[in-house]
Amino acid sequence: MVRAKKLLQYRANEYSVLNKSAMWLGNVALFFITPFAINNFINGRLDVAIASFFIMVIFALNTITVVFWKRYYSWVSLLVLSPAILMFCYYSIPNQGIIGVLWSFPALVCLYYLLPEKQAWGANVVIIALCTYLAFNTFERGLAMRIFATLSLISAFTAVSIRQINKQQIELHRLAITDSLTGLYNRTLLRAALDEVITHHHKLLGECHLLTLDVDHFKRINDQFGHDQGDEALRNMAHCIRDHVGTHGVVFRHGGEEFIAVLEDLSWQAAKKLAEDIRLAVASIEVLPEFKTTLSIGLARLKPQMNRIDWIRESDRNLYLAKNQGRNQTVAS
Ligand code: GH3
Ligand code: MG
Ligand code: MG
Repeated sequence: MVRAKKLLQYRANEYSVLNKSAMWLGNVALFFITPFAINNFINGRLDVAIASFFIMVIFALNTITVVFWKRYYSWVSLLVLSPAILMFCYYSIPNQGIIGVLWSFPALVCLYYLLPEKQAWGANVVIIALCTYLAFNTFERGLAMRIFATLSLISAFTAVSIRQINKQQIELHRLAITDSLTGLYNRTLLRAALDEVITHHHKLLGECHLLTLDVDHFKRINDQFGHDQGDEALRNMAHCIRDHVGTHGVVFRHGGEEFIAVLEDLSWQAAKKLAEDIRLAVASIEVLPEFKTTLSIGLARLKPQMNRIDWIRESDRNLYLAKNQGRNQTVAS
């Protein structure tokens, strides 16, 4: 299920703190650093000016890639920005004294917003170590100790808050793409997943199939057992479907008591067999204590030129044929 997995990862990146903050940090940094970079040039501090110019270029690149390509390349920040910040500290602390140290505070914080967590920790440790070494060589001992302590505190506080933000982002992302009742992926993700899978399979001419599964006479379950038990039955069926699809595809709750499964890289015969296996499995389990029910299934293969709407429509048409022919069966085309 390579495509769908990639898609989930891509969606996770969209929600990530890195993407959201890179552009704004870039703009703000450009606004604040530019006058100082020019000032350093004018005053002949060429090494500091060149280091700040490098930093500005990377921030500008971050902004450009996020705005125009909707992508953020954190490796640029790791491999170019972090060494440029180190270079800046190296020249500015001996040259500008305590003023040079001041710049390392925003540098430490911004790296937490520009790098994946562990890389940010690493970059912070290296910057703090360099600044402390330079501070001990440039200032008296007491001041150097205070510089070390304040840099470390700022870094630790930022690390803790970023950790919380990242945890919340991951949870937010999970909630945004899953159905709370069944734990399956929801229809928000379904649209994006189908478009992605269709584009990929049209290009590679691989096999791809869509299953639409609808519970037979589900209203009767609600009427007979109540809504809460109806929910329980839905959960049990959803898990049974997901367990049978396994690594062959991804299952979504399309709405109500209808599910959609996207099957990739299975032959047509294997897809038909899997659909039948799911139907028989659901029919055999007790969805509620001492109560069984059935599914009707529409199966449609992805044909050349089909888009998402055509594909779902064909699978739906097959589902309704299955319903009209007496339910508890699979119709495939
Ligand atoms: P058919 O065999 O033709 O599909 O009959 P059906 O009764 O399953 O179909 P219908 O679409 O008429 O009814 C679906 C019912 O599913 C209606 C609605 O109350 C119920 N339902 C939809 N979502 C939920 C849910 O989240 N929980 C519960 N308990 N019931 C739900
Ligand atoms: Mg139904
Ligand atoms: Mg239905």
